[in-house]
Amino acid sequence: MTEAAVTSCRNFGVEVPAIPNVFDTDSGAEVHADFLLTAEEEAVMQLRFEVKRLIKQDRAKFLCPECFVPVSLVSMKKARRFYFRHLVEDGSCSAITRGELSQAEINARKYNGAKESYLHREMKKWVADSLHASGKFADIAQEARWTGPITGAWRKPDVSAMYGDLKIAFEVQLSTTFLDVIAERWNFYQQEGGLVVWVFARFDDERRRLTQDDLFFINNQNALIVSKDTRDASVAASDFLLDCAWSEPQPAPFLPTVRRRRVSFFELKLDTELQQAYYIDCRGQKAEFQATLEEERRRWPAYFERWWLEVADTERTQEDQEDNVWEFPECAPVNWGDWGMLDESCLATYGRAHALYLPVAMLNVFYSAKHGRPIGIRRRHFIEVAHYVVESYPRYLRWFRRALEVFGRGQLLAEQDQSGKWAIKVKRYKQAMKNREARYEVDETHRTLFEWLFPELAPLPR
Ligand SMILES: [Zn+2]
Repeated sequence: MTEAAVTSCRNFGVEVPAIPNVFDTDSGAEVHADFLLTAEEEAVMQLRFEVKRLIKQDRAKFLCPECFVPVSLVSMKKARRFYFRHLVEDGSCSAITRGELSQAEINARKYNGAKESYLHREMKKWVADSLHASGKFADIAQEARWTGPITGAWRKPDVSAMYGDLKIAFEVQLSTTFLDVIAERWNFYQQEGGLVVWVFARFDDERRRLTQDDLFFINNQNALIVSKDTRDASVAASDFLLDCAWSEPQPAPFLPTVRRRRVSFFELKLDTELQQAYYIDCRGQKAEFQATLEEERRRWPAYFERWWLEVADTERTQEDQEDNVWEFPECAPVNWGDWGMLDESCLATYGRAHALYLPVAMLNVFYSAKHGRPIGIRRRHFIEVAHYVVESYPRYLRWFRRALEVFGRGQLLAEQDQSGKWAIKVKRYKQAMKNREARYEVDETHRTLFEWLFPELAPLPR
């Protein structure tokens, strides 16, 4: 923007306007007159014309927010300063007698009710217009009495229409739409084989009212929004278009996000059983999402094993060779990235403190048992791994014995025990276990990890 353009932007409003705010019928929001009138002169003049042009079509761009009478944008006689004035001024609006009533009193008594009844009226019209535009509904009516053929009770939905054989009631969500009303309508239309579709004037992500949330969750976390804009779009497209906001699940620990799209009513899934009309099946999507996560978790032990075996055959063994030892520290720090495949819920169960350290030696031992050969341990025969456990890790011996049994390594050990030392050792430790020697008490620290990586061994002995 050039400097000239900036300086020509000024406030063309009068200093003390009788109507300081106006209700914008396009956005459904209240706007400061100062905000509208602080602009380049050309823009203000265009706005003035637009207001007048619509008034001539019996429409209104701006309304007085207190009485909802249309306002025009007029100029002072002597200066080029503008202000909003009631189109019809019969003295009934407090905006003329400002100062005699407090603003709070006016708000409490008139404003909310007037604004809502205005919006309500407009919403009904927009829905009806949209239904007509689509050409696919019959018997479109506002406030028509709907007498239930089954119960004989009746309701007066905001807008009703026949869609094929289905009778649909469109109800506008108002701030006074409380849960008992919602529940009562739900029952009525479900009993009568009809469908109630709630429409919103707006649906904010952040500042949702409780009544909005009530409907949102009842309707499979989809909110349908009808506005002047969707009405115009419906008319232009000969369709019934609405804005849909729905909830999309995210991987834990993130909260679902609200997404939006303009959709056709005919893309919606209509469910008379649950009295729902939705674009995205959030409940189904969430279940699918959970199933994918579960599937991923089920596959994880196999991923981990593949990774472990690859690393065991390269890096760790080379280090051993250099140090000329084959004993590992029990817990070695592991790169956090190695745990990237672990999802948050697994980490939470296992505990972050443990997750940073893996019991390397015992993982090698258990994978050795699974594969019947030393893995990550520089020895030729599996039996050497078995001796190692008994000598150095007696508190893992009960679990190791379970592994030998499940993986069927008894025969292999018998074959490799040419000296008979293993058989002697087995006899000794069995006796010691019977005597409840403390050194054979199970170390529970990594139970979760082992039961998860070796589900075939779970539950491990205590
Ligand atoms: Zn007024």
